[in-house]
Amino acid sequence: MGYDIKRFLVPVNEGLFCGICRGVLEDPVQAPCEHAFCRVCIYEWLLTEHTCPEDRQVLLLHDLKPLFRYMKNDLNKLKIKCRNSLKGCNYSCNLEFISAHTRECKFEIMTCPNMECSDSILKMDLHDHLKECRDKSKMCAKGCGIAVSNMDDREHNCIQELRSAIEILRSEMVLQIENQKKEMENRLAIQREYMVKRESAMQAEITDLRNEISRISQKLKLLLDLEERRKADFDKMENERKELFEMLKNLQRQQRALNNCPNCQPTNNGKVTTI
Ligand SMILES: [Zn+2]
Ligand SMILES: [Zn+2]
Ligand SMILES: [Zn+2]
Ligand SMILES: [Zn+2]
Ligand SMILES: [Zn+2]
Repeated sequence: MGYDIKRFLVPVNEGLFCGICRGVLEDPVQAPCEHAFCRVCIYEWLLTEHTCPEDRQVLLLHDLKPLFRYMKNDLNKLKIKCRNSLKGCNYSCNLEFISAHTRECKFEIMTCPNMECSDSILKMDLHDHLKECRDKSKMCAKGCGIAVSNMDDREHNCIQELRSAIEILRSEMVLQIENQKKEMENRLAIQREYMVKRESAMQAEITDLRNEISRISQKLKLLLDLEERRKADFDKMENERKELFEMLKNLQRQQRALNNCPNCQPTNNGKVTTI
């Protein structure tokens, strides 16, 4: 298919138009009758016809030749705009370079490479498109933070979804708190039971100790009584000893008096015998 005449920035010679599509020649060939056509246009024509579309002379595929060099040169030097100028591409160049630009033009429409998607997109938008391509999930564009697929995007309602997300979180938290409470209660019950046991054990110990103390104090009292009595006995014995000692001294005095008495004679063993 030839180039649209509107894309050219300069006037185009009549001889450089395709006789079939009426556009400016693209990849041109010419018939022996010197009529020129786009390669695609004439190949397609010759599938059903065997004549030149301009003058009805017999024409077969192998009759076609390259365009005259001078015509080819004229064609190549024509200034042409990018075919995507309406979409925003401002590029223009000589015709010979335009196909190289077209291959790289960011405003070309392409099909999304994702099999599930096959959206038509501008080449320049591919990167962004892949981020939110319909077979991938993406974040909600309104910023609620919920992942939505492109298909769901239209039905997605941030507030409703956030509300249900919060509801789920809340019920999870309630459950968690409930569980923690139960666990704490269990732990407290075990601790309480332990404390009660320990308290009664201590109570028993205290009772034992009290009994022990009262037994000891009774023993102590007995011992003190005994001591008292012993002391009394001791005092009594001491008194008796003193009395006896006194008596002995008296007796000795009496004996000495008797020894000096002329009426009394000492015995053989020298001891005094009282009469
Ligand atoms: Zn054509
Ligand atoms: Zn012809
Ligand atoms: Zn372009
Ligand atoms: Zn896609
Ligand atoms: Zn949202």
